[in-house]
Amino acid sequence: MKSSVAIDILNEVYDEIMLHIKERDEDIDESEIIDFLHDIAQRLFASSFHLPLDLHSQQLTFDEEYKSLAKSSILSYQNTNSAIESIKKQQDDTIYQSELSQEKLFNSEKITKQFKDIQISMDSEITKANKTISQLHSQLRDLEKKSKIDALTKTFNRQAMNDFMQNRCSKNPHADNFHLLILDIDDFKEVNDTFGHIAGDKVLIFLANIFKKTLRDGDPVFRYGGEEFVIVLSRTNREGAIQVAERILELVRQNKLLFQNEQMSITLSIGLAHCSIDDTPMSIIERADKALYEAKHMGKNQLKIAKG
Ligand code: GH3
Ligand code: MG
Ligand code: MG
Repeated sequence: MKSSVAIDILNEVYDEIMLHIKERDEDIDESEIIDFLHDIAQRLFASSFHLPLDLHSQQLTFDEEYKSLAKSSILSYQNTNSAIESIKKQQDDTIYQSELSQEKLFNSEKITKQFKDIQISMDSEITKANKTISQLHSQLRDLEKKSKIDALTKTFNRQAMNDFMQNRCSKNPHADNFHLLILDIDDFKEVNDTFGHIAGDKVLIFLANIFKKTLRDGDPVFRYGGEEFVIVLSRTNREGAIQVAERILELVRQNKLLFQNEQMSITLSIGLAHCSIDDTPMSIIERADKALYEAKHMGKNQLKIAKG
């Protein structure tokens, strides 16, 4: 490890400890500091991969299997293409023969049969291709479930969120103080209706990239529902969490996302909740969700913070 990297890490550890001590009113004992250091070491290690430790291996599995699925798709596309090329050639030959025979004696029966055969081969190729596509789709869905990555946005999926939250809420509560954001796109149905579903999908990818770029390495983004995301912010206080949420709102407001030369105006609403010692995954999500509902109710395009 380069010494400058080591110094950066030490500085970060020092900042983390000071922040943790400042956030606590009571005295902190030695074992707590050791637990805390252990936790930070794990996170720093994971953050060099830009992901929380327990989710990092999921990303690798997904990447490998996704590549192999993509290869199969390309191969199947090439096979279909070459089959269709050869059918097209048959068709050209038949047309050529039919032109020749028109000059001589028109053999309509033979030509009609040849065209029928071509049609049958074409139908069978298309059926084969459709079958392959649906098989690949279902493999992709299975892979998504298994690897916990959402295929569209490349954020973590809901299953990953459930596992992650379960793990966080069952750990030593003192070392596990975090904030949770639920982000929901405003009037997304209208975006789909105006620009189409493909444009809507692009918005989801675009937003996921904004979230990933804005967050500190190691703070995970989950796709919670169709157009809803959850972000877990560790190692930050209330002001820090508000700042992150407001920064995301502002970046999204200011974006100039174009679809076929038309500008799409996208805004978000966010609910923020702080995880307290006796929170369960469900209770903290419920509070963030209530705050989100309030943000929508107050006119959207804003952040609301849950009480408690
Ligand atoms: P609100 O401001 O109250 O959140 O309104 P909304 O229109 O965003 O919410 P609503 O729940 O009425 O509609 C959500 C829309 O999100 C409808 C659905 O078509 C769209 N959506 C969900 N998942 C996807 C997706 O994967 N791709 C696309 N393009 N649209 C999606
Ligand atoms: Mg919604
Ligand atoms: Mg919405």
